[in-house]
Amino acid sequence: MTLDHQLRTDLAAIVEPQLVRTLGELGFLGTLDEVNGATVVELVLPVTGWPNLALLNVAITQRAPGATVVVRAMDEEELLGLRNFLRGAMAAPAGPGQHEHGTDAQPRFLDRLSKTRVLGISSGKGGVGKSSVTVNLAIALAQSGYDVGVLDADVYGFSLPKMLGAVNDPIVLGDTVIPTLAHGVRCVSMGYFVPDEQPVIWRGPMLHKAIEQLVTEAWWDEPDFLLIDMPPGTGDVALTLSEVLPRIEMYVVTTPQAAAQRVAQRSAYAARKLKLSVRGVIENMSWFTGVDATRYEIFGAGGGAQLAKELGIALLGQIPLDTTLREGGDVGAPIVVTHPDSEAAQAFVALAKTIAAQGPARVYRQELQLM
Ligand code: ADP
Repeated sequence: MTLDHQLRTDLAAIVEPQLVRTLGELGFLGTLDEVNGATVVELVLPVTGWPNLALLNVAITQRAPGATVVVRAMDEEELLGLRNFLRGAMAAPAGPGQHEHGTDAQPRFLDRLSKTRVLGISSGKGGVGKSSVTVNLAIALAQSGYDVGVLDADVYGFSLPKMLGAVNDPIVLGDTVIPTLAHGVRCVSMGYFVPDEQPVIWRGPMLHKAIEQLVTEAWWDEPDFLLIDMPPGTGDVALTLSEVLPRIEMYVVTTPQAAAQRVAQRSAYAARKLKLSVRGVIENMSWFTGVDATRYEIFGAGGGAQLAKELGIALLGQIPLDTTLREGGDVGAPIVVTHPDSEAAQAFVALAKTIAAQGPARVYRQELQLM
């Protein structure tokens, strides 16, 4: 093997962090040239402003010290090749009993035997901290080494990418969407695909189609966890998710207030009507710990425990009030990243551990169903 061949092999083996495939597999490695005695490595990327360019630069110069990296955008044929590769990589091997949608097999993570756990984070009403819980829980899971994606399906206010601190928009390759990556979490928001600042009136079929597309056409690969930030209430989104992702596990976020708890209970009952597995209650804004270490129960106490009791499931965690959490949410600096030792961050880490330890919902074999 000549030096060039060796170098090409080394560079082709670099793993692209967002797509978790090698440069060789993705077709990202272009020509290797020698100019005035220095190596010039050409990177061929879907867009020249590829989010992980700096990381790729470092990885390349580690293997080829002194090399210069030049970037070229993929042409249409190369983009199509990448799209086809990604579609193939996320598809299930087409076996008996599996559906084919058009020419593309359905993503492997939708298969009932997939390792992916889909967590629907829901609430009875807005403002209880459902999105804050989704973001911090997702990052806490990623920090424990899990591969995590989040889908912002809260059609009444898309706040997730901002809270997560996602700076890049997803990249769209025809009918395939590459999520943006922040704090080790892949993220797609339906908000990216609706006109800015304009209210959208979601009609049932349109909403169904949009969610279905982002579930099946985004590059989720086969994550350990896919979290879905659901709109508050009992509406259409739950119905769609029950059809598209029947294995979804529902988690209900509530505050300690009795009134909030009753509203949350309605959304849990609605989920159960759809035969979704409601797996746990998360209480947010449980108390505020003062400088004197006293816990002040600003929104009352007991709502989470009461809801869990009524639903016959566990209260999985209680998250205290923390101004840092709110400030971090506003500027995209999630508390589990910026203040990992805070009481609230620790509560999210404990919650992530509890949910991971709980394991997937029991899956009934479809062929054993009596209808
Ligand atoms: P939802 O998704 O239920 O509408 P958000 O996550 O958007 O709720 O939270 C509503 C507001 O409350 C946000 O400003 C958020 O930063 C803040 N918030 C949520 N949880 C907490 C908490 N535990 N402590 C302090 N502020 C919080």
